[in-house]
Amino acid sequence: MHLRRLGLAWLFFVAMAAAAHAQGPQVVFTFDDLPAHGPLPPGMTRPMPVKSILATLKAEKMPPVYGFANGYRVAQYPYQIEILDAWRAAGEPIGSHTWSHPELDLMTAQGYIDDIKQNEPLLKRVHPVGDWHWFRYPFLEEGNTLAKRDAVRSWLFRNGYHVAEISLDFQDYNWNDAYARCALKHDERAIKDLHDTYLQAASEASKAFRQLSHTLYGRDIPYILLMHVGAFDAKMLPELIQQFRSEGYSFIKLEQAEADDAYQFDPHVTTKGGSTFMEQVAAARKVTVPELPDFTDELNKACRESKESGKVKE
Ligand SMILES: [Zn+2]
Repeated sequence: MHLRRLGLAWLFFVAMAAAAHAQGPQVVFTFDDLPAHGPLPPGMTRPMPVKSILATLKAEKMPPVYGFANGYRVAQYPYQIEILDAWRAAGEPIGSHTWSHPELDLMTAQGYIDDIKQNEPLLKRVHPVGDWHWFRYPFLEEGNTLAKRDAVRSWLFRNGYHVAEISLDFQDYNWNDAYARCALKHDERAIKDLHDTYLQAASEASKAFRQLSHTLYGRDIPYILLMHVGAFDAKMLPELIQQFRSEGYSFIKLEQAEADDAYQFDPHVTTKGGSTFMEQVAAARKVTVPELPDFTDELNKACRESKESGKVKE
């Protein structure tokens, strides 16, 4: 009898643990700047980071992951359309990141809208089926005046676009430049430091954004992580996915996340210099944002002596 009760208690515990796991935080991975982002370490060619990212997404059985493309890259280097085709062939969707990656803060709404329109023929070509009408603002700049913000958003919505929001950001792009410099110097110790700080920043950002989500919503909203198709992002992706897993996250699609009530709200604030969705909501509601990790200074200094750093061979 006693043993049977223990068995039942164990079953109950297992069921509770499974339920708790199912209720863990959810995250969407998204990648900006297809087909090319940042400098490359020596010996690496431009298609390699994206090929590596696609292989990792497949090996880790991730749900479909949006990449956001800038057409001007393909106009500059026509062969790079192969990188977009490879993304699609792997079953991953593509959205728009404007044609030329401009800063909305520095231009008119109409100029910006024209730039988005310019990207459409390429998206139609690489994405004949499925939905490419997802838009990611470059530099997280969504309008430094409300008039500009409203003009761009209303054009997007009238033309069938959704805004691909960002609610988890650890400034992953910062590591790619430093990596290219350190690889050029074969500085393995510095590269190990980059490895460690990259994962540390992701973990700290995850905690800070979860804290903000609990302050704003009393729960974990489905998070949308900003990433870029850089060489160091590609190198770190398997461990980054593993780290999210070990922190209890499960992975979902962008469409699933944005169906959440939280994303139906327009915070309607100006975003001079750019900010993530939850930071905008915090600004609208006058809520203090927890301190976010910032490794910019440290990364800018890493392996800085080399004069050849930052060269990109396309
Ligand atoms: Zn970008």
